[in-house]
Amino acid sequence: MATVLVINAGSSSIKYQLLDPDSGEVRAKGLVERIGEDSGRVEHTVGADTTTAEDPIGDHAAGLRTVLGLFESVGPDLLEAGLTAVGHRVVQGGPHITEAVIINDEILETIDSVSTLAPLHNPANLAGIKVASELLPDLPQVAVCDTAFFSDLPAAAATYALDRQVATEHGIRRYGFHGTSHEYVSGRAAALLDDQQAKLVVLHLGNGASASAVRAGRPVETSMGLTPVEGLVMGTRTGDIDPAVIFHLHRVTGMGVDELEDLFNKQSGMKGLTGHNDMREVLQLVEDGDEHAAAGLEVYLHRIRKYIGAYAAVLGGLDALVFTAGVGENNPLIRARTVADLQFLGLEVDAQRNEEESSEERIISPEGAGAAVLVIPTNEELAIARQAAALVS
Ligand code: ADP
Repeated sequence: MATVLVINAGSSSIKYQLLDPDSGEVRAKGLVERIGEDSGRVEHTVGADTTTAEDPIGDHAAGLRTVLGLFESVGPDLLEAGLTAVGHRVVQGGPHITEAVIINDEILETIDSVSTLAPLHNPANLAGIKVASELLPDLPQVAVCDTAFFSDLPAAAATYALDRQVATEHGIRRYGFHGTSHEYVSGRAAALLDDQQAKLVVLHLGNGASASAVRAGRPVETSMGLTPVEGLVMGTRTGDIDPAVIFHLHRVTGMGVDELEDLFNKQSGMKGLTGHNDMREVLQLVEDGDEHAAAGLEVYLHRIRKYIGAYAAVLGGLDALVFTAGVGENNPLIRARTVADLQFLGLEVDAQRNEEESSEERIISPEGAGAAVLVIPTNEELAIARQAAALVS
């Protein structure tokens, strides 16, 4: 038996899973929260048992040390579990990391060199890698980048119409994110449809949200760009917006770049429109008759439908629409309303199939529909574990 430890280090948190890449069995999982704050928290779950500890956690090193301590005291024992690699989620891999890679000094430098493109994510990812390399020095550390799947987007889709020299000098292009999820989900969809050539639109609708168009297993478009701000309306991010809004706000309010970045990333999207980033709360407000929530939901759905139409055009047709992530996997209302006006693309849902609660991969369109509608639960940890295991085997 072999296992991989998957680490997703954020600015103040570390999420981890120890899993068997073949069967997908999760042997343990957990979360370190509020790193660097007055009160830290660690949660370590093995089977049905969760151990929690509340202590200040100074930095990522202290957090991971606590986690390794829990593996020793609570289990499972990492040696006995056959740990073969540590897989790290890295948000921005830049133009040169195009697949999962074993981390060495050169890769570390590459990830560091593109940190300016992902200042909210890459420094934390790097901290996780450095700490894991120090604490588990005998294991190969593997980086799986959110951008890798989209690294061969067609040039026409990846290029912004910006001064070519400026763009080249500063690496300004559309990189795309959530790539590990889009790759995994589109692969599972093609398998479920038994059609490796399928033209797919994948909607990853979580707190962050993105769409991709995938043909014959390769991405041809995706909604996120240089950063994860572009594209769909998200929990707290604007998605598509005229960049001149930034110039204008700067001129009329004097807001600086950090304030504007915070506004666009953390105070906008559903939170900006309705006061809530959590879709369950937004839907509850809609039910209660809140007009801002209802109007915000229309903006959210309009943007998604606009992308489906655009991507059908880019693909030259559509075999299936695939829903994934928190909202996409769990909410029948959003799924039904997304496809409600799209019968001309062959899209419709079967009411009973759509409303049935399930955590399985499933088809929710009626028999004989022009295009299939699927729900495929994403599993980024498993995808990272499989890519890491394949590299080190
Ligand atoms: P993250 O991007 O943080 O990984 P997830 O994929 O877990 O996010 O998705 C989180 C989002 O999914 C939240 O907005 C949450 O409200 C939403 N969500 C989860 N379950 C449901 C549900 N049954 N109905 C509507 N939204 C849901």
